[in-house]
Amino acid sequence: MNTDGAGSREKPRITRERRTVRYMVEIYCRDQHHGRGGLCEQCDGLFTYAMARLDHCVFKDDKPTCKKCPVHCYKKDMRAEMRQVMIYSGPRMLLSHPVLAIRHLLDERKEAPPHPARQTAQ
Ligand SMILES: [Zn+2]
Repeated sequence: MNTDGAGSREKPRITRERRTVRYMVEIYCRDQHHGRGGLCEQCDGLFTYAMARLDHCVFKDDKPTCKKCPVHCYKKDMRAEMRQVMIYSGPRMLLSHPVLAIRHLLDERKEAPPHPARQTAQ
């Protein structure tokens, strides 16, 4: 049964992105919504939405960070919400999950690759 799409065939870049997003939403919810040991309904919705976007990410393992991505796949309100989460949790991630945070910063320095849809499918 395919539960969350994070199976062994998934690219490490995407798996890491999922973990990064999870931590960021958790930090944000805990501090801003006083969620205890879980996400509130709103944050859970945002997280689920983010995971669904990752499932459909056209770049797969070449995925740039969302900030640099030329494909704006988030709905406007979800995008605004995620921006808040990133602004709040980004610096805090450095303390609680330094390795993931630093890798995310390194990913951020990479330029977005050409849009794969305009290249020959593999
Ligand atoms: Zn929340």
